[in-house]
Amino acid sequence: MAAPGRSLHGMRGMAAVPSYVVMQPTTLCNLDCAYCYLPFRAADRRMPVAVAEAVAASVNPWAASARFSVVWHGGEPLAAGREQLAALMAPFGPEVEHHVQTNATLIDDAWCEFFVAHRMRVSVSVDGPRERNGDRVTRSGRPAYDRIVRGVAALRRHDLPFSALAVVNDPAPGRAAELYDYCLDLGCEVLGVNIEETEGVNTRTNAHDPAVVTGFWAELVAAWRRQPRIHLREVEWSLRYAAAVLDGTADDLLPRRLDPIPTIAYDGSVVVLSPELAGFTDSRYGDFSSGNVLATPLHAILADAAERTAWVGEFLTGVEACRSSCPYFGFCGGGHAANRYFELGRFDGTETEHCRNSKIRLLEGVLEHARNHQSPGA
Ligand code: SF4
Repeated sequence: MAAPGRSLHGMRGMAAVPSYVVMQPTTLCNLDCAYCYLPFRAADRRMPVAVAEAVAASVNPWAASARFSVVWHGGEPLAAGREQLAALMAPFGPEVEHHVQTNATLIDDAWCEFFVAHRMRVSVSVDGPRERNGDRVTRSGRPAYDRIVRGVAALRRHDLPFSALAVVNDPAPGRAAELYDYCLDLGCEVLGVNIEETEGVNTRTNAHDPAVVTGFWAELVAAWRRQPRIHLREVEWSLRYAAAVLDGTADDLLPRRLDPIPTIAYDGSVVVLSPELAGFTDSRYGDFSSGNVLATPLHAILADAAERTAWVGEFLTGVEACRSSCPYFGFCGGGHAANRYFELGRFDGTETEHCRNSKIRLLEGVLEHARNHQSPGA
């Protein structure tokens, strides 16, 4: 199944126009989750409206010609408050879709009315039932689970559709089915699953027994197939890839050029490809930023980000190394910059624990499920 990756020739370099931008309205988070990668989550550094105005000046023309999203990410974006968030959203035109990734603990009726008024799509972070949320604690170390559930209840009271994003730190047998069944009850429309990553200030290991991780994904597919009521992000990617391999169109699946996915930090600095790199510095790579929107328009920064940012060039070399060495390249497209940096210390390596857990074993898990459930005589 994975072998076509070696012969793929599509997707070279990085595009100048993204399909979405990530905005950091504040560095602050009201929680202190054990696996969080954010370095400044205890500090309330807020994005000035001038930064949003500068970003909108580039984004609005893009949104007029193609679907375009702004993803409000943090810190905890709701910790910025409704007034501040509304002021930051105001410069964006009506074509721009707004999304927010939130820990849900601050969601109440007033926030729900805000989401409706601003046509904002909501994704909540929740790791499954109460006992799987032990890493999710307040600044005083208290479990955040009840507050997360209260926030989700408010969304449901207002009939607001929402997505869920779950971090799994122990993909043991039984956990995938438990998570899926939990999300069916939770009422989310879409579920994304992240095996915990070693990145940013989170240095916990993400190395697992390969068979256990493959089994986790296979179990998740089986749970989904029993009741396919939720869009399961990772499984849908895998099935789309499998179908494309079978009908010979796998080469069309990856974008022609990498989406730069610019993250705009609270101070206007722009980090491409990996939001997790924002706020870090390195003696070789500096602060990872490709410029600041208060000095240079976003479209101008992205026009030559690969040339003006040394680590991006190194990352693109790593992507080419993946293309020539990894049979999973056609599915994966070369992985994430932050995982390479935080696991390997540089950007031009290839395999990471993250890509083993979340790309290679994901695809293997889907295939394992297919093998175990093929009809007799097939
Ligand atoms: S990041 Fe990993 S799975 Fe993806 S292409 Fe590179 S080596 Fe393969």
